[in-house]
Amino acid sequence: MSAEAAAVEEFRQVVDALAKVDGWNGPDHGIKPSFGSLKKSFQRGDKREAKAPGYNPRCAYIGCNVQGKKLVSSNSHVIAKSASIMPLADPRTAPHLKVLQPDYRDLTNPALRPVDVGQASTFIGYCRPHEDSFQTFEREKELKTTEHYMLQLMRSAAREVWKKEVYINSLEEIGQTYKGAVDGLRISSEEKDHWRKRIQSPVDDLQTEAAIQWGRLHSIHTDLYAALHSNTLPRWVIKTEYESNLKVALSGSTFLDELPAVEGAPAAPMFVMAVIPNGNKTLMLLASSSDDSLWVQSYGMAHLANPDALTQAWMGATDHWFTSPEWWNDHAPEALRRDVLDRLARP
Ligand SMILES: [Zn+2]
Repeated sequence: MSAEAAAVEEFRQVVDALAKVDGWNGPDHGIKPSFGSLKKSFQRGDKREAKAPGYNPRCAYIGCNVQGKKLVSSNSHVIAKSASIMPLADPRTAPHLKVLQPDYRDLTNPALRPVDVGQASTFIGYCRPHEDSFQTFEREKELKTTEHYMLQLMRSAAREVWKKEVYINSLEEIGQTYKGAVDGLRISSEEKDHWRKRIQSPVDDLQTEAAIQWGRLHSIHTDLYAALHSNTLPRWVIKTEYESNLKVALSGSTFLDELPAVEGAPAAPMFVMAVIPNGNKTLMLLASSSDDSLWVQSYGMAHLANPDALTQAWMGATDHWFTSPEWWNDHAPEALRRDVLDRLARP
């Protein structure tokens, strides 16, 4: 069991035990203590979650301190809109162009839901001048230089770092909500302290785990930024272009699996990935931190022979992907649709 799953299990046990205490009503937030519902709670609305009390995101460009309302909140695209999202939409539905994205609102009824291309793949990312630094491939409608690839990976990494901050912040909120509900119990103040500590412990564990992951993603982001203006791709970035059978655009992060059991192998290194429709081809990008170069290369060698299978695996590993309504409804292989929807129901 992963550290995260163990902490969620402990949290569930605490809440089950609390349910037997006189006076417990439970928090009225629809937050149920399962890994699925925790994941759902931070995935159901990026922008809403980011506005949680106490969270004041700053521009994702490293070294920029612009915060809050000055950020470009509605059109900072992780995946380039004109180059890669727009081609997935059905042109017959103009001017209301939509793509599909996974819907986490009801895990008992897994589905994809339509989203406007203008809203697809946006995050609270950058201040205006830094947002403009990404306009080069938005204008050119194609990613074709080393700098474009690095910029795409930087945006993908920036969102993963931001997302992890939102998650850590929403864990704080969940912990406070449950601890607040303890106040109404008809028990002594010592017993109330006992329950507050029991709630805090798994929340602390989840935050610790999330902070470790944040650190790894932050290293990748920092390394990408440092290498942005070199003319060749660094060893820890992998780029491939191919003719895909899947109409999917994706950006996210996950763990390197299948690490060889050798001395010096890092514990679960992470990488950032992007699958980007690009002209007639599909672009696949992977980046680890510079320290994990060896591992991302061995991962690439093991899996890049079948990029469509890799994309399908990543559709289960990240929440941030988009597909063509026409392709998904009429042409996507039934086995793929079933696999994706099954995994959506079991986050
Ligand atoms: Zn900025």
